[in-house]
Amino acid sequence: MVEGRIFPEEFGYHFSQENFEQIYLQTVNDFRLSMGVDDFINAAQNFNEGTGAFRLKRTNSLEPGIKRYQWVDDESGRMIITAFNSEGEIIGIQFDIHESFNSDREITINSYRMPFTGEWFVLWGGNDSFLNYHYPHPHQRYAYDFIRKSAGRAFDGDEYNLASYHAFGSDVVAPRKGKVVHVIKSVEDNKPHSMNMVSPEGNCIIIAHGYNEYSMLAHLREHSISVETGEEIAAGQMIGQCGNSGASDTPHLHFHVMNGEDPYESDSIRIQFADTREPRQGDTIKGRGAV
Ligand SMILES: [Zn+2]
Repeated sequence: MVEGRIFPEEFGYHFSQENFEQIYLQTVNDFRLSMGVDDFINAAQNFNEGTGAFRLKRTNSLEPGIKRYQWVDDESGRMIITAFNSEGEIIGIQFDIHESFNSDREITINSYRMPFTGEWFVLWGGNDSFLNYHYPHPHQRYAYDFIRKSAGRAFDGDEYNLASYHAFGSDVVAPRKGKVVHVIKSVEDNKPHSMNMVSPEGNCIIIAHGYNEYSMLAHLREHSISVETGEEIAAGQMIGQCGNSGASDTPHLHFHVMNGEDPYESDSIRIQFADTREPRQGDTIKGRGAV
């Protein structure tokens, strides 16, 4: 396997050279189980058509031993995201579009604090679909998914046990003063690695902050929410706990600000933060204490 090995930083070159079979043979078994070599070569050929050269734009690591690479072709606006394990095997290849939107130039009028206390990790967040899988979708474009880590890991022990996750049960606080306009409290937390698509937000809170700005906190723990619809709350007030309800496969806190009360009818807005720069994927952020 050492011979002819593609180094992660050379992936773009080999892709442009259409060395697709060689790329495929370096993928892990799970990847090959999900796609045969002919299908991969076809998909890669189609995707590569009309492109110039893929340049390495960014790399990062979200979990120990796995490194992600963002390749962008500026001519066609196409993007490839690859992930390599520490053995140099390819564990994922994703073909995508590298787009940006005019809404990037707008930011909230209100400023917000982090909706938590203590140290959290930005799993998804930023103005780019490499950094933030919410980005292509206008309703959630500038959303964040936060988790907690200890020694670089999101969980310790059994990965199928909710209590193993450092985020599970952590306090969630109001990101700004406002009035609670919507609450769901009693959706069951999913077992890790399964999702509830019937009520995607799970347990959630929507707060009106003025200037037509509403924050949404989702996937909270069943029965942890301590505020009611209509209640006026303070910035930093404890409002619930991080859970794994709704469209969430492992415990995390989803946070976004939008220009309306209905998350399916509103557009997400870039958030102006009160005391930190705009966080993005891979950052570790410390929330202020609760009030
Ligand atoms: Zn999310």
